[in-house]
Amino acid sequence: MIIAVDGPSGSGKSSTARGVATRLGLRYLDTGATYRAVTWSAVDRGLDLDDTAAVAQRARELELEVSTDPGHQFVIADGTDVTAAIREPRISAVVSKIATNLDVRKELIRRQREIIDDAQNSPQSGGGIVVEGRDIATVVATDAELKVHLTADQDARMSRRGAELESGSVTAEQLRDQIVRRDADDATVSQFLVASDGAVTVDSTHLSLEEVIDVISRLAKE
Ligand code: C5P
Repeated sequence: MIIAVDGPSGSGKSSTARGVATRLGLRYLDTGATYRAVTWSAVDRGLDLDDTAAVAQRARELELEVSTDPGHQFVIADGTDVTAAIREPRISAVVSKIATNLDVRKELIRRQREIIDDAQNSPQSGGGIVVEGRDIATVVATDAELKVHLTADQDARMSRRGAELESGSVTAEQLRDQIVRRDADDATVSQFLVASDGAVTVDSTHLSLEEVIDVISRLAKE
């Protein structure tokens, strides 16, 4: 069984998808981590991010290991543990540029499908995997048994990223700008933010994390 969870940044996708996988005893794949890992590698090597051929080449050459254990997430890129590094603001700021490179997408979609197949065939899979991203239901796993489009209004998405505000690393204005800008950047590869046919839209604005996990787990059992 594949459960696809798509939605914009800050919709609570990651915590929700991981929570559903844990609750149902399934594997979990964060596809955003694959885009972040390629971005990290391109930045680490000092590549010109506008050189689409060079960045796509890096995506094809990168040795990438992404954990599908919802209780123990890690990302290893060319032997380096980049689990924390790929979340740094310097990576978030440019990841959309890498994600709109169609040759990078082609390569990463191929790898994501491979990871999904391997996870489903592994003895720990519990018979399925929860896959989260932007284009899972529309492109990566169009045959998913359950397709969830998770949404939340902009204020809710801002407050979920409140830890960054509290740490003083950004102001509320900067955070709102980042969210609005990343939405706009991501929308340039427009099909990602369109709900797929047959997707169930879950608006998490007024729900707690546990409530969203309950709703999706119930849908998965139907
Ligand atoms: O989910 P997360 O915010 O970590 O994803 C990082 C970026 O990767 C997104 O802003 C988007 O540009 C890209 N992405 C994508 N397709 C996916 C998952 C992520 O284009 N399936």
